[in-house]
Amino acid sequence: MKAFTYERATSVALAAKAAHENPRARFIAGGTNLLDLMKLEIETPTHLIDINRLGLDTIERTPEGGLRIGALVRNTDLAADDTVRRDYGLLSRALLAGASGQLRNKATTAGNVLQRTRCAYFYDPGQPCNKRQPGSGCSAIGGFSRQHAVVGGSRSCIATHPSDMAVALRALDATIETVRADGSRRFIPIADFHRLPGDTPEIETDLERGEFITAVLLPPPIGGRHIYRKVRDRASYAFALVSIGAVIQPDGTGRVALGGIAHKPWRVEAAEAELKGGSRKTASAILDGAHPTEQNRFKVDLVERTLGAVLSEARS
Ligand SMILES: Cc1cc2nc3c(=O)[nH]c(=O)nc-3n(C[C@H](O)[C@H](O)[C@H](O)COP(=O)(O)OP(=O)(O)OC[C@H]3O[C@@H](n4cnc5c(N)ncnc54)[C@H](O)[C@@H]3O)c2cc1C
Ligand code: SF4
Repeated sequence: MKAFTYERATSVALAAKAAHENPRARFIAGGTNLLDLMKLEIETPTHLIDINRLGLDTIERTPEGGLRIGALVRNTDLAADDTVRRDYGLLSRALLAGASGQLRNKATTAGNVLQRTRCAYFYDPGQPCNKRQPGSGCSAIGGFSRQHAVVGGSRSCIATHPSDMAVALRALDATIETVRADGSRRFIPIADFHRLPGDTPEIETDLERGEFITAVLLPPPIGGRHIYRKVRDRASYAFALVSIGAVIQPDGTGRVALGGIAHKPWRVEAAEAELKGGSRKTASAILDGAHPTEQNRFKVDLVERTLGAVLSEARS
């Protein structure tokens, strides 16, 4: 690991300003992703800003009847919160499908949405990877791509976003609340927060340099049946091949977001109009324009079958 300096942040505004002034600085929250990346020298910050003493660890009702989840609420606490379990069951289930109990005890709300891809080539400094080293090439294209994206990829990168929680947030229409380096507050709809790779796969979110996530906001509850189904190579402690977060209403309408198939949590609102017609039509609308590789072509069928299972669970 490369040497770095360390400070403990005393306010959000000062943390954002410090991170803006030093492009090689990083915030550290639970550290469960960042420290792994530093040990492999994939991330090489020269300065760490520890944000763990800033509070931001409460879950509160908003005046509109929604929920404000502090950036430092641990994944375990969020999944176990009574209001979340009752009104936003999808979020609780998605969190519990991710990582392990020990990791969830440390992992934070903000850190989770900002976790980086699990593409094996990204984690191997000996291999070309445009995301790790822009312009070096993409080893996954033409290489091992079983886990990779089937929609929204580019000629530069076909990585997927690994967060289960972010899939639930996309289906629930969450908003990311931030503070910029100049102290101004910003609200970013989750749909616009994560980016597709395009020619700049190293830029993964809409965040500006130094911009600090303070909370995730959820709109008022929408009722319905909340289902999170994650298909993976082994029963636990693995990232999704395909995951589906769904809220299905008694009349068969609903919302569906997917993980494991794109560089960002994937939701096609227009496809949701097909839900009453069944999984085949909906899956085909969700995967419109898909470009699978030889190795991950199976995901196209897997999306349809997983969606079928979700819809039959909703009817049961
Ligand atoms: C073995 C293993 C298995 C896992 N399995 C799963 C899984 O199945 N599903 C899943 O979803 N996840 C999984 N994870 C990932 C885990 O959920 C993430 O590592 C965790 O959520 C990251 O949160 P953190 O607080 O530790 O982030 P950190 O590692 O502290 O930070 C991550 C990034 O976010 C930035 N950051 C943190 N807080 C802020 C803030 N407030 N504002 C701006 N930037 C910020 C940091 O600078 C850093 O770049 C797994 C991890 C491991 C190690
Ligand atoms: S898919 Fe993206 S992260 Fe993986 S090797 Fe290609 S450029 Fe790197």
